[in-house]
Amino acid sequence: MKKFESLGLSPGLVESVELLGFETPTPIQEKAIPILLKGSQDFVGLAQTGTGKTAAFGLPLLELADDTSRDTQALILAPTRELTLQITSDLENFSEKFKRFNITAVYGGASIGEQIRKVKRGAQIIVATPGRLIDLIDRKAISLATIKYVILDEADEMLNMGFKEDLDKILSFTPETKTTWLFSATMPREVRAIMKNYMTDPYELTVGEQNKGNVNIEHRYVLVQEREKYMALKRILDFTPEIFGLIFCRTRIDTQRVAEMLMKDGYNADSLHGDLTQQQRDRVMMKFRNRSLQILVATDVAARGIDVEDITHVIHMNMPDEMEFYTHRSGRTARAGKKGISIALVSRGEQSRLKQIEKSLKSPVKRMLVPTGQEVCQKQLLALMHKVREVKINEEEMEALLPAVYEELNHLTKQEIIKRFASLEFNRFLDYYRNAVDLNVEGSKGKDGGDSRYVTGTRFFINLGKMDGLDKSQMLEVIDEFAGLEKKDIGKIDLKGAYSFFEVEKGLEDKVVKGFQGIEYQGRPVRVEITGPGGDKPDRDDRPKKRSYSSAPHSYGGGYSKRKKEGHKSEGYKKKRW
Ligand code: AMP
Repeated sequence: MKKFESLGLSPGLVESVELLGFETPTPIQEKAIPILLKGSQDFVGLAQTGTGKTAAFGLPLLELADDTSRDTQALILAPTRELTLQITSDLENFSEKFKRFNITAVYGGASIGEQIRKVKRGAQIIVATPGRLIDLIDRKAISLATIKYVILDEADEMLNMGFKEDLDKILSFTPETKTTWLFSATMPREVRAIMKNYMTDPYELTVGEQNKGNVNIEHRYVLVQEREKYMALKRILDFTPEIFGLIFCRTRIDTQRVAEMLMKDGYNADSLHGDLTQQQRDRVMMKFRNRSLQILVATDVAARGIDVEDITHVIHMNMPDEMEFYTHRSGRTARAGKKGISIALVSRGEQSRLKQIEKSLKSPVKRMLVPTGQEVCQKQLLALMHKVREVKINEEEMEALLPAVYEELNHLTKQEIIKRFASLEFNRFLDYYRNAVDLNVEGSKGKDGGDSRYVTGTRFFINLGKMDGLDKSQMLEVIDEFAGLEKKDIGKIDLKGAYSFFEVEKGLEDKVVKGFQGIEYQGRPVRVEITGPGGDKPDRDDRPKKRSYSSAPHSYGGGYSKRKKEGHKSEGYKKKRW
């Protein structure tokens, strides 16, 4: 294996990297450093974060740059403020024992005055996010005329974030004679275009497996009515108690409105959009970054550059107009090799855009159903029980208090205590979701056939499931026997743990309800309720058309006022979040 000194680097640089604990070069360093040291060769490296690419371009750059000249000689562009700061600090470390450079980071969200002062003091190397650099160029606070090296780091990510125009503008200010090095994890058309337009016969190097889009993102969608999107959102959030999520809306008004409604309903949410001052944005981002905020609702533009680790879910309140926005939104999750889920709330009118996105992703976006009230309750209850199981007990302090508690409860069995405890915490949740209706809608019957397979007959909930020792055929027998239906009238059976769903032919609902009245199964009363369309719940179209929040087509207030049961009581579990 090669050592750093064999790559053509000066002893001072080798000493600096050794001080950092780098003993042997990574594959990209070994291959790229000798090529980049030539100085005049344009270069494209296909490599992911974590491969050591910062040193791969940083070390040759420090070797080539002239520390005796105060001219700005190198420009490194990166998509996010975090990466900008990381690169700056890496370069400073690499040059610890080698030459003396002024390396200046230029990024949004910090005082522009301070950055201008640093640049004017003679920054030989500038590490910048494209947006802030444009601000500096527009203010004539920076000249790129003396630039010899331009490095585009995470080029695909910069383009995903909508920096294409900014990059074009910045590159047009740099001299023709410069050398350009580009690093990217993927090679979409837009990156190829940059190579074609701004680089001369670049040397191309691929390290490791080429990333074909982020395979760690699971793309899903739900199909709901536009006016019920807010309720669907709440169901998804309630079904995912551990979510650390980013919700995208198209406009500032929608962003603000969704965030306000979530806050009012007791969620730990806030908004990020262009109407906020920089200070307000910084505050929100700080809360989100340090996890004291669980849900951030943002516009596409304001969320540019968000680089927060461990975002579990990205939710699209609507389908974005541009594929690039979809990619950027989804790419906020599943960062640094982690897994993430992207869920789009799609109305029938948006299905064609969904198809376009599937085409562009070259893979289908999986439909998921908006969880039913029962599913949400089950999930929340289990999450609560999980917390009970995991809670840390302060034995010492509890010791003195417990005898009185035992005394109070000693006539109850363990089962009864569990039941009461669960009910105490959970009754309000159950109340809230008791009459929750199915929010899933049928797909449009366009030429692609729609999604009618998901909603056929009338869907029933039954409080029997696998935990009662039933399999599908036994469940079929139970329904058959008690409801007196023929097997052909019984559709899909969805067997869960403590409960199940089944579908029956429309028109037979009464038979099912009456058939199960007063029935016990293994000593337990059987409960059967309609959950899906076609039941005796009010038909969607019979409900008032008026919306309480707004009549704007993309408002999410609609379902909120109609579904009093589902809209008014969420304070009940307010304190339990996060
Ligand atoms: P990067 O891909 O540049 O973000 O680097 C990923 C991580 O690997 C950083 O923490 C670097 O400090 C570290 N690293 C880079 N090159 C080496 C090396 N040759 N030996 C050990 N660690 C390295």
